[in-house]
Amino acid sequence: MAKKSGVCAFCGRKASEVRLLIQGIDGEICDSCAEQAHLIVKEQFGDGRKEYTPSGVTLKKPAEIKKFLDQYVIGQDDAKRTLAVAVYNHYKRISQKVESDEVEIEKSNIILVGETGTGKTLLARTIAKMLNVPFAIADATVLTEAGYVGEDVENILVKLLQAADYDVAATERGIVFIDEIDKIARKSDNPSITRDVSGEGVQQAMLKLLEGSVVNVPPQGGRKHPEQKMIAVNTKDILFIAGGAFDGIERLIAARKRTNVIGYGSGGNEAIDKDNMLQYLSPADLKKYGLIPEIVGRLPVITHLNPLDEEALKRILVEPKNALVKQFQKLFAMDKINLIIKDEVLDFVVEKAIEFKVGARGLRSIMEAILNDAMFEMPSDINATQLIVDRAYAEEKLEKSGLQKLHVGD
Ligand code: ADP
Repeated sequence: MAKKSGVCAFCGRKASEVRLLIQGIDGEICDSCAEQAHLIVKEQFGDGRKEYTPSGVTLKKPAEIKKFLDQYVIGQDDAKRTLAVAVYNHYKRISQKVESDEVEIEKSNIILVGETGTGKTLLARTIAKMLNVPFAIADATVLTEAGYVGEDVENILVKLLQAADYDVAATERGIVFIDEIDKIARKSDNPSITRDVSGEGVQQAMLKLLEGSVVNVPPQGGRKHPEQKMIAVNTKDILFIAGGAFDGIERLIAARKRTNVIGYGSGGNEAIDKDNMLQYLSPADLKKYGLIPEIVGRLPVITHLNPLDEEALKRILVEPKNALVKQFQKLFAMDKINLIIKDEVLDFVVEKAIEFKVGARGLRSIMEAILNDAMFEMPSDINATQLIVDRAYAEEKLEKSGLQKLHVGD
């Protein structure tokens, strides 16, 4: 039984001298000592917020950055190398103390071009994870220029602020991934044609963020709280990574290559790999596609992602550090069940992902559909110790799940 001493075991003051004595198993603590203890804990471990690397980030060399990315992202070597250099330079630039006469390194925002589900977001997210900086994803399609229905571009920074738990200094070193930037392309190649609210206007608004300026951000986002106090965020050191599929850009690239060849009268002896036109992507193609020149200028690092073939999809299932198969095995292991997925099942899952035209994005839903019955039943089965999934089992479960039907006619 706890002893009541009537004095604080820490400062020795009596109950009558303090506001409150909190009873412990073997003694008491007064309110002011408890408060002190709280402060010490806070000082030692922060206040429960995410801890970001305080001044800048641990700078890994480009080769190390690529190695880190290799653990999570399959293939996409060109994109990884380009990104690694850009990120390295970006954080080198941030850590540079600019003397007035010194060469100032300009910011290098990045644009990733490649089909949906090839790893653009994953690359950006993995880089943020590696650097331990706040990371936010913004969808360009919901943005509008100020005064129109939709989200103001400032809301992009709200997400970053939130990811940083409103730590402004951390926010200002964060990474923003702007998805589907191709969807705000100018619809017409001719800039003088009628004003284009959803395209050019948004691009103009976005410029302000990309080029580095102090932006007043409504901390709660939206326009619903006009009375809220704005937070000033300087975007100078925020790294923006834009991504888009740019459907059909290959045609523009091909057309440009042809014109060049004719233009220089080289007789077309430059070998062009027609199956992979994206590797020739240049700023000119992005402009032609409908990004305004100022935006293209602010996204100077251009790289592309390759479509994922069967082999890559199969590797994605098993190889990355948090590969899907590993994740399911862990889930089963928590119920003491050994999950064995045969190689033929991996082939089957990949076949279906390709058939459903869902790419890497669909791998998880297919795996879930196959394993759902087992995940429902086995935890209650005390005798269950192992599940071996073969192709016949996978086919049956997927059929039963109806996932297939969902995609017919897509
Ligand atoms: P994107 O941004 O290009 O549309 P994502 O990066 O969001 O595509 O990819 C969707 C999901 O597919 C990822 O979360 C990841 O699980 C998987 N994935 C896609 N590409 C790769 C890749 N190259 N390596 C590993 N996983 C990938």
